[in-house]
Amino acid sequence: MEVPLLDLTRQYKGIKSEIDQAVHKVLEHTRFIMGPEVEQFEEQAARYCGSKYAIGVASGTDALLIALRACGVKAGDEVITSTFSFFASAGVISRLGATPVFVDIDPDTYNLKPEEVKKAVSDKTRVIMPVHIFGQCADMDQILQIARENNIMVVEDAAQAIGAKYKEEKAGTMGDFGCFSFFPSKNLGAAGDAGMIVSDYMDKQTFMKSLRDHGAHPKYYHSYIGYNSRLDTLQAAILSVKLKYLDQWTEARRKNAAFYNDTLKDLPLKLPVELEHNYHIYNQYTIATDRRDELLKHLQDHDIGCAIYYPLPLHAQECYKYLGYTDDDYEVAPGASREVLSIPIYPDLRDDERNYVVEVITAFFK
Ligand SMILES: *Cc1c(COP(=O)(O)O)cnc(C)c1O
Repeated sequence: MEVPLLDLTRQYKGIKSEIDQAVHKVLEHTRFIMGPEVEQFEEQAARYCGSKYAIGVASGTDALLIALRACGVKAGDEVITSTFSFFASAGVISRLGATPVFVDIDPDTYNLKPEEVKKAVSDKTRVIMPVHIFGQCADMDQILQIARENNIMVVEDAAQAIGAKYKEEKAGTMGDFGCFSFFPSKNLGAAGDAGMIVSDYMDKQTFMKSLRDHGAHPKYYHSYIGYNSRLDTLQAAILSVKLKYLDQWTEARRKNAAFYNDTLKDLPLKLPVELEHNYHIYNQYTIATDRRDELLKHLQDHDIGCAIYYPLPLHAQECYKYLGYTDDDYEVAPGASREVLSIPIYPDLRDDERNYVVEVITAFFK
């Protein structure tokens, strides 16, 4: 049996007529740039997250970039983030001329460790950027407290965590700004690149909207240097359809996670830890073992899709050598990069496929 890590064709088949209709509507009205579907989706998404407003942009990366600009991040500033994340979390900091300060993670959740954040604060720190990795929120109470005590802003990288909750608060709504990605493999995926910023910070709404359109306000008058980063009308139309199904898809992911938790629990594997106050949306179901590379090969040999998120922490990336970090500066992240493996968890995964995944993993340890 072949089990892909993610199969989006099944999702499409289930909602094909609605998606096709939404797409055709845009093709007919031809308002491809900032058509009415963009604002409609922004309103729906803001309501879904429970934030005052949402701004659609071209990608999750651009959402982070624009949110950091709204925090006033500039050359010479420092931004504290996790060393165990997708590259975008760090790249946007550098692109503004600021310095990423990479801190270590918690071994159970792979999220930013608040004690390490505290140690990393300096008088140059302008923003703390927690990443809600794999779909589970970071320890926001402690992170927000550190931020408040030091007069630092918080940008949540919630790219993997739409709909996740921390003590009844939705991911993206706890810091000053929350950033989402609609990259196709995220829980709410577009048919291409797309992203969004949510916030309650009304003073910055106009600024961020102008940044996504070259910094113009009004059109052809530029007070700032911005980007070409609007959310495509076609993507907004597709996302509006899909948003209605998001909670039900998340529940299906959680059922798959519960199944794995139960059927893999007796193996010498580290399973995901969902903290009691968290609602994990399982963008990834990530297991860990010191025999990771062998297990990876075993799964591949049995046609099971799996992937390593992430094989090299950010502090160890070639482009960040200049910052002078070494693996010895980190207790957890380098080991996590050697041990983690993500297995199929998507909502449309069938029972026989889940069973096969468990069977193949169990056979590996026998
Ligand atoms: C996907 C992702 C991003 C970037 O999103 P894009 O839409 O691909 O630009 C940023 N941070 C994290 C943690 C992500 O997983």
